[in-house]
Amino acid sequence: MDSNMYLDFIKDSKSIIEKNIDGKENDNSKSYIPILSCTQCNDTEYLSSVLRKSLENLDENLIKFDGKYSSKNGLKIYWADDYNDVLSGLHTIVSKKNIKTVYYQNDYLYDEVGLNDFIRKEKLIYSDNADVQFIKVEKLVADTGSILIFDKDMLVSGRLDNKSINIFLVGIEQVISTIADAEIYSKVMLSACENVYDSSIFYHPVLKGKDYLFLIDNGRSTMLSMKKQREALICLHCGRCKNVCSVYNVVGNKPYNNVFAGPIASVILPFFETIESYKHVSYACLMCGSCEKVCPLSIPIRDMVIENRKYFRENKCVDSSDNSRYMAYKKMVTNRNKMNKSKFLRSRTLKKYLSKTFRKKRKMPPLEVSSFNKQYLQKIENNGK
Ligand code: SF4
Repeated sequence: MDSNMYLDFIKDSKSIIEKNIDGKENDNSKSYIPILSCTQCNDTEYLSSVLRKSLENLDENLIKFDGKYSSKNGLKIYWADDYNDVLSGLHTIVSKKNIKTVYYQNDYLYDEVGLNDFIRKEKLIYSDNADVQFIKVEKLVADTGSILIFDKDMLVSGRLDNKSINIFLVGIEQVISTIADAEIYSKVMLSACENVYDSSIFYHPVLKGKDYLFLIDNGRSTMLSMKKQREALICLHCGRCKNVCSVYNVVGNKPYNNVFAGPIASVILPFFETIESYKHVSYACLMCGSCEKVCPLSIPIRDMVIENRKYFRENKCVDSSDNSRYMAYKKMVTNRNKMNKSKFLRSRTLKKYLSKTFRKKRKMPPLEVSSFNKQYLQKIENNGK
């Protein structure tokens, strides 16, 4: 996609957000208030507000970053709408430059775009001194046009200067407003991952043909246009919510069949993949809220799951049979006369709708003789006597 078209698209998303907020102008100051009940650490509180602020201004940050990054020696950003855009861009580089060997470290984004399959398909051989190397990006800094990378024992800084072609893959949500904000981010993250990284680099490519940067959307702008769900894009993928999730602890990774799993996956997967193939993960949540209590950024995962379900219904992504069952159920439980019918009539209605759920091995639980409402009124009457 052409970068101007892309930036217009992001701008449109922002105007949708603004319209969605009850027709009022977006009150940014409200979104910046740190919501960190889970930690006493002031740095983490500040990081949370910094990330939220960068996300609120993503449209401006992307334009700023594009201008600063591209201003030198004709460097160009590859704006990738989805996985296919990334893979076809990579294929062009591999064929043009006659690439035979590759180097990369682990990054969830590589799994998200299917880099391993691509490498296998292109018959590239893994090597320490490769023709092309994938360098993991932490953040893109809008006001300087530089790339924030974490390093350990100067391994990455040594690599950036070698002869290999550098490829950077990064999601559009990873743009941070200023270098000062990026330093806060580095400080908090480096202290949290001290065994993995020990320093940070602000890299600014200067040679055309040596550095390639892919900015990947893949459903992120859809989430960005949603008032509640967009906050999921500040997720650090730390995995804390996954560890306390009672659903994840029973089902594990398998049902997700994806690099993302657990509570935050229930929110983002329908958008990063397709609603059709991943809407079920939003229905698996039990709404216990344990994930929110441990999240270092206090991301309101429960509200987002509810919003997802609402979004699926409003956009007719739910099966029509489920929809009509839900409507019939709603009609029944919101009608006092129907709820107060005799046990026989209530059982008959339930059996009509739930006959497939309850069979021989799993009998339908017996209903009370009279409804809760009747029992309650009876109790008040008895107490009054
Ligand atoms: S705990 Fe919060 S930051 Fe960590 S993975 Fe879950 S949602 Fe993301």
